Amino acid sequence: MSDRDGLEGLVVLAGAGAGSSALVTAEAAKWLSRAEVVVYDRLADPACLRLTAPHAERIDVGKTPGRSGPDQGQINALLIRRARAGRLVVRLKGGDPLVFGRGGEEAEALAAAGVAFRIVPGVTAAAAAAACAGIPLTDRRCASSVALVTGHEDPAKAAEAVDFDALARVDTVVFYMGVKRLADIAQRLIAAGRDPATPAAVVASAGTPGQRTVVAALGDLPARAAEAGIRPPAVTIVGEVVRLREKLRWFERLPLFGRTVLVTRPAGQAEGLSAALADLAAAVIEAPAVEIAPPADAGAAEEAVGRLGEFDLVVFTSVNGVEAFAARCRARGLDGRALSGAKVAAIGPATAAKLRAAFIEPDIVPERFTTADLGEALAAAGGLDGRRVLLARADIAAEALPEALAASGAEVEDVAFYRTLCPASLPSEAVEALRAGRVDWATFTSSSSVTNFLALLGRAGLDPSAALAGVRLAAIGPVTAETLSARGLTPAAVAEVHTTGGMVAALVAAT
Ligand code: SAH
Repeated sequence: MSDRDGLEGLVVLAGAGAGSSALVTAEAAKWLSRAEVVVYDRLADPACLRLTAPHAERIDVGKTPGRSGPDQGQINALLIRRARAGRLVVRLKGGDPLVFGRGGEEAEALAAAGVAFRIVPGVTAAAAAAACAGIPLTDRRCASSVALVTGHEDPAKAAEAVDFDALARVDTVVFYMGVKRLADIAQRLIAAGRDPATPAAVVASAGTPGQRTVVAALGDLPARAAEAGIRPPAVTIVGEVVRLREKLRWFERLPLFGRTVLVTRPAGQAEGLSAALADLAAAVIEAPAVEIAPPADAGAAEEAVGRLGEFDLVVFTSVNGVEAFAARCRARGLDGRALSGAKVAAIGPATAAKLRAAFIEPDIVPERFTTADLGEALAAAGGLDGRRVLLARADIAAEALPEALAASGAEVEDVAFYRTLCPASLPSEAVEALRAGRVDWATFTSSSSVTNFLALLGRAGLDPSAALAGVRLAAIGPVTAETLSARGLTPAAVAEVHTTGGMVAALVAAT
């Protein structure tokens, strides 16, 4: 049974949460992973689309400045058409689908057409802004009512669809949209009797690394927001609760708030590092400088796997090495038992974890995670004399490790199980950020990431020393740091513990 059985022709109206894709609910994520068609618009964080299956059809119905996009009738018709074709459709909306999202109208159209639908709530912008700016929407001491209000009144509509007289008596008022109409909104609220000294805040891009908050008295807020250049999307919160922010602001105090960090790890391996940086509020730009490929001479790896029984020790110096090794074993119908006769060594915790995932417990992991330390740990474990050692590594791995092992009397076979390549180009987002001088840090987890990154800068038409002038560089360990130094670049942070976590810690300490 497939997880879509019985769900053909269903439309799920789901909230994506406001701001960061991290605010998408587990329920919405589940439906996104099942969806055959995802219909989304601009305010849904594009990162949410990563939760969908690769083969899902993605349809952007958003309006962007200069492009009008389909109208509501066309969107309804599209949803009905796809559902009638038997598809499982997710209609993804920013925030909550039923708060200023026209989700109600879409559900009505589906109901009228006899199309089955479900509604999955989302974190609405008022809630996201309140949490991330540190402004509770209610508080027993000063606010027992909240109103969510549209600030985007169609001027063609009767002027007063919003009852400002009633709003003036609500403790906390949150205006959606309406950044451009802020002066008008404040003036109407004051005219209706709200004290111009009432604390108020505009929170823009809440929950994202670009979050900006301006706090002022209601009467001054429009001018202050304009001075600060506040741009949509933003909500305006009016009420005594805004005072609490002074004590409760937490997001802007995270160590990497307001910093932009480049991650040069290979695509598919950047996730852990990117997430650790984003958790500290950094704006992360992934700029893969390394690509992993099969080795030029796959025969040697193939042949080594064919006689694994001959080795006394098998050494892994990267997650990629373990992956490539395991793939080759699987292709031959072998599993972890193929290593039962050998001791196994891993350079560090990530490589060890990868082995464990394959149900292989490494016998040796050095205390510090460099190849030199691994060589020492292996020598210290003793008994290398006359032993046969397989190094399952990259094609360009350094000579120091095999030399050290050979010096201990081991018979070393250094076999390339994978190859690192330089990608064709840097993503345009990274190039633009570098060009604009917006990058604060660039992180390097290997020497090849340094070498390739510099080459990629050149290919993008950037002069490396100019492009990196204002950029601080972080290295995972001494070897990577040396590669930077050899190119005339001084790392501002070198990890003491040579893991991505250790590098983040060093970067934070140097920020
Ligand atoms: N359904 C959405 C609202 C859509 S209307 C929800 O429930 O949040 C779009 C408005 O939402 C924007 O004009 C802005 O006022 C608000 N908004 C959306 N994302 C926001 C964010 N990250 N920060 C502040 N306001 C946001």
